[in-house]
Amino acid sequence: MNQIDDNELLKQYIEDLDIIDHHCHNLLDEPKCFKYPFVSFFTEGDLNTEKFIQQSKSTLIYHRSIKEICQLYGCKNPDEIEKFRETEGLEQLTYRCFKEAKLETIILDYSFKIYHDNLSIPMKDNKWHSKFSKVYKILRLETVLEDSLVEAKSRDMTFQMWLDYARTLVDPTQFQMDSDGIPTIGYKSIVAYRSGLSIKEYSTEQVATEFDRVLREDLPKSSSIHYRVTSEILIHFFIHFTMEISSRLDKPLPLQIHTGYGDPDLSLEKCNPLLLKPFIIKFPKVPIVLLHCSYPFCREAGFLCWVYSNVYIDIGLAIPFLSVEGMKNSFSALIELCPIDKIFYSSDAHHIPETYYLSSKWARYVVHHVLAKSIKSNEITLEEAKKFAEKIFRNNCLDIYNI
Ligand SMILES: [Zn+2]
Repeated sequence: MNQIDDNELLKQYIEDLDIIDHHCHNLLDEPKCFKYPFVSFFTEGDLNTEKFIQQSKSTLIYHRSIKEICQLYGCKNPDEIEKFRETEGLEQLTYRCFKEAKLETIILDYSFKIYHDNLSIPMKDNKWHSKFSKVYKILRLETVLEDSLVEAKSRDMTFQMWLDYARTLVDPTQFQMDSDGIPTIGYKSIVAYRSGLSIKEYSTEQVATEFDRVLREDLPKSSSIHYRVTSEILIHFFIHFTMEISSRLDKPLPLQIHTGYGDPDLSLEKCNPLLLKPFIIKFPKVPIVLLHCSYPFCREAGFLCWVYSNVYIDIGLAIPFLSVEGMKNSFSALIELCPIDKIFYSSDAHHIPETYYLSSKWARYVVHHVLAKSIKSNEITLEEAKKFAEKIFRNNCLDIYNI
């Protein structure tokens, strides 16, 4: 036998799979996508000093990615990559990276924006991405909340009027498809960044009082100033409000929720997915998808998936941002307990098409490596490993999102 053959057969099978990227973001438009230092796409840190830029170039992800991209584009060094990218143009680069990644479908969180002097840096819209792959989108609840509060202030709404208006923005029976023709198939929350994952419940009186205060004190005077909601009471209320609406559907829309590490805005100690337990129990019909393998809380996430039928997990950001050993260890730690039927592939790719490519490549590598070890330990057969891989890279997603 053929364990060597099994290893090769599994590798080939996984490399050939067309995949669904369950959580990713829109690309930066030209010429901005060529203007940022390349290292900025491989860290979540704020590159505000030359010293930190140099330090950030000493990560394993940066070294590995530069080699990978040199190989993909036939370049010798980062300077050549930068020249090559500008010469090719964004459309050609995206075509190439998406094709190499074998992306059949992407699910975009289109509300991830960068602001500079209150202006958002231009991004490619959802429709543009559909030139390269099938596209669906998810609704980021904090952005909907922000927009609805700005609208409430400008139209002088009462609390009840705002509730009625907000309902029309999050009720799937009212927004199925909007002007860009791209279907909305789920929600996302970044509450981890604003308060951590202990999502509390507040009384209607508390929420109504806070609504009045926020409109009076927090909303900017001018509509040209970007508003970022920080009220914990309103953010927590809005998540509950949306989940109650979604729960009444025959098939509630999944909620993707940021867990684990991210940029310096978050407090990592408040991003352990175990903190979500009361919320998970309150909405048993809603599929709750923990993003980013909950790194470094991968085992905790695996436990939640193991014991609660409505908890799922995706492996984006942990792959490809960690070292090779880190990616393998995180995925291995996750599946110590986590049922494979609950795992999704994602890239969390953003800003440049190369991150889509790198993520797909390394996720295939990691899933192959870890499942091949399970074949070797006689836990699973080759055929079972193939089915597991196909579930992670596409079938689980098709199932939960009903697409
Ligand atoms: Zn993301």
